[in-house]
Amino acid sequence: MVRDVVIVGAGPAGISAAVYLQRIGHEPLVFEKDKVGGLLLNANLVENYPGFPEGIGGTQLVGLFNKHLEKQGVEIKHSEVTEVKQEKGHFVVATPDGDVEARIVLITTGTRPKEAGIPGENELNGTRLFYEVREILEKDGKDFVIIGGGDAAFDYALNLSKGAGKVDIVCRSSNPSCISLLEERVQQATNINFHKETSSESLSEVGGKVKLSCKTPEGEKEFDADYALIACGRESRWLDVKGLESVSSIGNMTRTTVPGLFVAGDVKQGDHRQVGIAVGDGVQAAMSIADYLERGEEE
Ligand SMILES: Cc1cc2nc3c(=O)[nH]c(=O)nc-3n(C[C@H](O)[C@H](O)[C@H](O)COP(=O)(O)OP(=O)(O)OC[C@H]3O[C@@H](n4cnc5c(N)ncnc54)[C@H](O)[C@@H]3O)c2cc1C
Repeated sequence: MVRDVVIVGAGPAGISAAVYLQRIGHEPLVFEKDKVGGLLLNANLVENYPGFPEGIGGTQLVGLFNKHLEKQGVEIKHSEVTEVKQEKGHFVVATPDGDVEARIVLITTGTRPKEAGIPGENELNGTRLFYEVREILEKDGKDFVIIGGGDAAFDYALNLSKGAGKVDIVCRSSNPSCISLLEERVQQATNINFHKETSSESLSEVGGKVKLSCKTPEGEKEFDADYALIACGRESRWLDVKGLESVSSIGNMTRTTVPGLFVAGDVKQGDHRQVGIAVGDGVQAAMSIADYLERGEEE
């Protein structure tokens, strides 16, 4: 059986495209390698997505997205797409659980975190060190050190501070690069400390704790914590899937250089990464896909 549409990734972009396509009868199959909701599961409080004047937690918003998917009856398979190739006029989408054939493929794979490049980082990854806050949110009463100075670092700190002992944010610049609202909230929190002009030099595990060694204008400084979190930016997951190496999106559109292959959300957005943009982009892709399926060619 050749499916009409396969969507790779169930973050906000993939979810909105799936809901739109299901409602008009195209019944997409969505592959998600991790949890439905994607990066949004890390957001402390989303205050810029219309419909929630008091703001809404990322996990709560994902809960509503999940309800919407269920209500529409969207089919989701929990498997990683490893390759997309073309054979006999359609796409073959490969996963460890088998191949699926589709007329259209929509890539909504989002972004992955950048490494900080600090000695010891790889050794601690997954045990004492993480790149997404959702991995350590349940660890109440613990101490955390966050490396980074942007929106994500400050949002992570506010999220963790609700149950934490203390949270240290370590940033090599003299000023944070987050929005002023987050900076003010961090200043008001009694258990978060921001350390500027502090460059992270090495990470190690000592007695079941993380030790972060830093350089500051005043000299060397050390931070001890139960867990370290790295928030040093993100990069597109476009090339994670084999077969997409020579494909690119056309301008800022959801179409790509390969007819029938579409892309939406953070994976193509560069620096402008927001739920509203991802959702709108997913709908844009879904409408272009519907045109393609009905007319056999792109608009
Ligand atoms: C701390 C934090 C706070 C934020 N706060 C806000 C906010 O307040 N307001 C706002 O608008 N935005 C916020 N954002 C940004 C928002 O979360 C993202 O813009 C949005 O989630 C992007 O959606 P997406 O669907 O494009 O990608 P993602 O959410 O990254 O989803 C991509 C999905 O694809 C899956 N995937 C990847 N590769 C594969 C594969 N090969 N096979 C199968 N599945 C795959 C991933 O597991 C993931 O679930 C925040 C982000 C962070 C980190």
